[in-house]
Amino acid sequence: MGYAEVAVNSPAAQRRTFSYTVPPDLSVTIGQAVWVPFGNKLLQGIVLELPERPAVAETKEIAGIMEPRPLLSPAYVSLARWISDYYLSPLFEAVALMLPPGFERKALTFVSLSQVPDDFDPASLTPEQRQVFDRLQKEGRISQKHLEKILSKKKAQTVVSQLVKRGLAVRNYELEPIKTKPKFQAYLSLASRPPLPPEAITPLRKGAKKQAALLDYLAQQSQPVPWTEVRQKVGCARAVVDTLARKGLVTIQRLEVRRDPLSHQVIIPSQPLALVPAQESALNSIKSSLLMARAGAPPTVFLLHGVTGSGKTEVYLQALAEAVRLGKRGIVLVPEISLTPQTIERFAARFPNRVAVLHSQLSPGEQFDEWQRIRNGEFDVVVGARSAIFAPQPDLGLIIIDEEHEWTYKQHEKSPRYHTRDVAIKLAELTGAVIVLGSATPDVETFYHAQKGDYHLLQLPERVTPTQPAPLPQVEVVDLREELKAGNRSLFSGSLSHAITRAVAAGEQVILFLNRRGTATFVQCRRCGFVLRCRRCEVALTYHSASNALVCHQCNYHMPVPQLCPRCWSRQIKFLGLGTQKLEQETGQTFAPVKVLRWDSDATTGKHSHQEILNKFRAHQADILIGTQMVAKGLDLPQVTVVGVVNADTGLNLPDFRAGERTFQLLSQVAGRAGRGPLGGQAIIQTYSPEHYAIQAAAKHDYALFYDKEITFRRQLHYPPFTRLASLVYTHTNDGLCQREAERMKRVLHTEIQSQGIADLSTIGPAPAFMHRLRGRFRWQLVLRGSHLSSFLSQIPFPPGWTIDIDLVGLN
Ligand code: ADP
Ligand code: ZN
Ligand code: ZN
Repeated sequence: MGYAEVAVNSPAAQRRTFSYTVPPDLSVTIGQAVWVPFGNKLLQGIVLELPERPAVAETKEIAGIMEPRPLLSPAYVSLARWISDYYLSPLFEAVALMLPPGFERKALTFVSLSQVPDDFDPASLTPEQRQVFDRLQKEGRISQKHLEKILSKKKAQTVVSQLVKRGLAVRNYELEPIKTKPKFQAYLSLASRPPLPPEAITPLRKGAKKQAALLDYLAQQSQPVPWTEVRQKVGCARAVVDTLARKGLVTIQRLEVRRDPLSHQVIIPSQPLALVPAQESALNSIKSSLLMARAGAPPTVFLLHGVTGSGKTEVYLQALAEAVRLGKRGIVLVPEISLTPQTIERFAARFPNRVAVLHSQLSPGEQFDEWQRIRNGEFDVVVGARSAIFAPQPDLGLIIIDEEHEWTYKQHEKSPRYHTRDVAIKLAELTGAVIVLGSATPDVETFYHAQKGDYHLLQLPERVTPTQPAPLPQVEVVDLREELKAGNRSLFSGSLSHAITRAVAAGEQVILFLNRRGTATFVQCRRCGFVLRCRRCEVALTYHSASNALVCHQCNYHMPVPQLCPRCWSRQIKFLGLGTQKLEQETGQTFAPVKVLRWDSDATTGKHSHQEILNKFRAHQADILIGTQMVAKGLDLPQVTVVGVVNADTGLNLPDFRAGERTFQLLSQVAGRAGRGPLGGQAIIQTYSPEHYAIQAAAKHDYALFYDKEITFRRQLHYPPFTRLASLVYTHTNDGLCQREAERMKRVLHTEIQSQGIADLSTIGPAPAFMHRLRGRFRWQLVLRGSHLSSFLSQIPFPPGWTIDIDLVGLN
């Protein structure tokens, strides 16, 4: 007898599998979706293992198979287990990442007749059993629901069980109908080919002009045409079609439509470019690793570090072409699909009709279609946001993560709280795929691994400049303290306002960038730029209006708000904060009659509105574009000659040890937006802390300068990559209770750390979380620091209300 270990779709299953017996008439494989009894329910499960012996003595039988083809290949089964173990997520949640969209459905039970034994005597049945038996003989198969309607629910269940026990009937299970059905559309064509004889059309020309027009139109088409298109082209009503169909002149077919997310774009196929030497040498390294991986060598992780415009994308494209040549396929991850339409177009253009695009804004039907087609091996390349790493791409040979430093690669809002980069590296290890991580401003942790030799570093130090010299833009750092001294209290320094006025007068365009997160939460001296920081954690202190105090969000250090600046004794110590709407207003007034466009998450709600705002700006319907993080992403706007950062300090002073890194990345990207066209360009960064290394390095486009300072800081304060952090957050409607539970957990952890004698583990906090109150609940955070967090935490019982985020990124 065989056994199966199954990940069951139930919240009660948590991180473990359950053992089942495989009935002799079922053939079960690893990765297959099955129905299993669980409590008194029948639930979905995925077979993860077929062991010789079950983990428990008593096992129930697998009730049925959902789909003969396994949904997960063995590599993905291992990946799911790794995600569950490492990120401490329920096993089925990890498995679910890899299942087709719309998979999670209920079971419907059907009853059918089985082989009736020769010596069977129908007279031995009770009247109710007889009733069901007769119906089964007539219909072959009946749904349990239907039987429950005829008898009662209880009776139907009893009678069916009795028949099954006697070997007269069997139950089988089917999924309830899928919610994301394939989409069908009516297609029209002429009923006869070659075309209709004139005598069929001529009489219509006078009395029924629309009918004649429709027939004429269809006669010109070589294939059936969608009804929606006919309606548009011919302008006739559906009744006209129906009349012609009744006359037998027109055929109506219902055909499946492919909901192609690229269909609203016109894609012109492109050819590979002749590479510049730096690109050539990067590509050659990747090519030889692809070859070696095919021969079974462990695949390499590459870090492709190249400034914006250095031709990284062209390297990705040619590396993918090589993988395809070797009979492999690729996955390309981008931080946020809706922000990178140009990148996607480039992939679609190089691999015409061989690119699938996956992202969460697709309708469920579109996602379902794409998933099935990917699994069937219809695409060379899958492009998508973070969850596309789980696309069922067969023969995976190359994984590309563009802008690998982006924080959107970490799923923090729901479990499993995975980091796409780490998942991809694990997947590559399991499948033998090569990975290319690309960035102009690599994550400090990634770069550290590249320096250590864990990853292979490839560099593209210069911009590719096909038409004319377009160096990286000039960056000017403006000291806002000096502006204040000179009596300028407006949002715009002399330099910035001069540059804007000049650009607008010359018919050029301007981008103003504002890092809106965390506004008005930190306190800064406007005279000397001093920011109050925690002495222990080095993160900026955050203002709490309730207690009128400054608080460290990591360790809970408190202090009153000072009246004077502790450094220069000035009274100009202020809460800094500014929103995009206010900036929009002031910009409009200061530079009237200029046209201003605002781009932030409030302004973009619809499906294509990112694109619409961009198109408007590109069509020069506005002179100035104001935006938050989004404007920093990979846009190519050749008419932009001035980029202004209104206040660089907002990002720098978030209570997060990565604030410096984040600011450097954003400023580098924002500065890279200027000077993309023949007009050249300049960037202006306004700040109260011009001496900060993140700002200095971004202004000089100097990654090495930034990295050296940042890695020293990380080493000194013992932050990643020299250790790992886990954020443990407890939420409750009662703040006091929340704090007490967090403190209790800290004691639990300490006791455990001591009894196991793990020197390397320590806790920070607890403290109110950065978002102390969220949707009516209070939140307290405890940070655990050390190198092996998951194995330690997996032994600790966490009551409901706790959330664990391993390797957290950003603020909790
Ligand atoms: P990145 O991805 O590093 O920002 P891109 O690949 O987008 O850089 O390249 C920037 C520009 O240079 C693009 O317009 C691209 O078409 C062009 N380009 C890239 N490589 C070459 C090359 N070898 N020869 C000519 N033009 C190139
Ligand atoms: Zn001061
Ligand atoms: Zn602190």
